[in-house]
Amino acid sequence: MNKKNFFENFSLSSYTTIKVGGVAEYFAEPRNLDEFSYLIKWAISNNQRCQIIGAGSNLLINNIFIKGLIICTKKMKSLKIDPHTGIVEAEAGVMLPTLSNSLAKNGLQGGEWAIGIPGTLGGAIYMNAGTGNLSLAKNLIDVTVINNETNQKLELEKKDINFEYRFSSFQSNNFTILSARLHFEPNGNLKQLVQTTKNNLKFKRETQPYHQPSFGSVFKNPDNNFAAKLIDDMGLKGYKIGGAEISMMHSNFIINNSSASSKDIYELITVIQQKVLQNKGIYLQPEVRMIGFDYPN
Ligand SMILES: Cc1cc2nc3c(=O)[nH]c(=O)nc-3n(C[C@H](O)[C@H](O)[C@H](O)COP(=O)(O)OP(=O)(O)OC[C@H]3O[C@@H](n4cnc5c(N)ncnc54)[C@H](O)[C@@H]3O)c2cc1C
Repeated sequence: MNKKNFFENFSLSSYTTIKVGGVAEYFAEPRNLDEFSYLIKWAISNNQRCQIIGAGSNLLINNIFIKGLIICTKKMKSLKIDPHTGIVEAEAGVMLPTLSNSLAKNGLQGGEWAIGIPGTLGGAIYMNAGTGNLSLAKNLIDVTVINNETNQKLELEKKDINFEYRFSSFQSNNFTILSARLHFEPNGNLKQLVQTTKNNLKFKRETQPYHQPSFGSVFKNPDNNFAAKLIDDMGLKGYKIGGAEISMMHSNFIINNSSASSKDIYELITVIQQKVLQNKGIYLQPEVRMIGFDYPN
């Protein structure tokens, strides 16, 4: 492992899209599977807790000292596309916009929706990220994972993984996603695919506060309802705590409008939950994942 990729007392705020985060005791950015495996081995033999982050686009990290090792997958970004078979082999750190654009340019159909999600492939599988009823689960063939407790590598077929709305079984086991194989429909109309992908990004930019620091939708939509509508109904649009604000553009987004602390953001999440619970009897479950809080993730 190169010393340039391993740090002590490392600030994480620039590794989240909401630009908030504490200091990791140890931090590393492996560039390939061997380096990743070395880090897991190091964490096991030094009895250090190991936590994984991708692009930090669905993460609230507390402004505290985070003990143990944080591994960021963003530099593991090998991407192989076979335009004839439609088979894609991608490492966990490949960004969804890169994947989406590359698919379209290779005439592969089925990834146009993913253009506007600023996360990694690993994060997207872990979160079962998507739009409407589209997600990568549909295209997945298999996933290579590493067991964080034993450093053992395994291959899981799609049928071995449970996917639900913004949930995958990776949220309840101790595996890290290293890479995945996916299949997309080949021989699509290249011009049309590129245009649809562009249009999808334009739509995202017009309907979400894309240009401001956020972590996407804060809450999952409850059954037969919309978190944004429930928050709107409470008159909370634009409501602020410190530098954290409920977006005027989309009520299920919290933006860091100046120098929000993780405490501001956490308090705002709690205020929204309390108001909606008191007035509508609905508990809004956070979609966003948390590091360094007692919140039951
Ligand atoms: C502007 C904006 C728009 C968004 N739009 C959408 C949207 O339309 N739909 C949607 O579903 N989401 C959306 N999101 C949320 C977010 O982009 C997705 O959830 C994304 O998939 C998270 O990926 P990430 O790499 O950033 O994961 P991170 O935020 O870094 O991590 C999220 C969780 O995944 C785990 N994780 C990450 N990588 C791995 C890995 N390799 N192995 C195991 N666990 C891992 C982390 O431990 C953490 O618990 C949006 C976010 C923003 C900021």
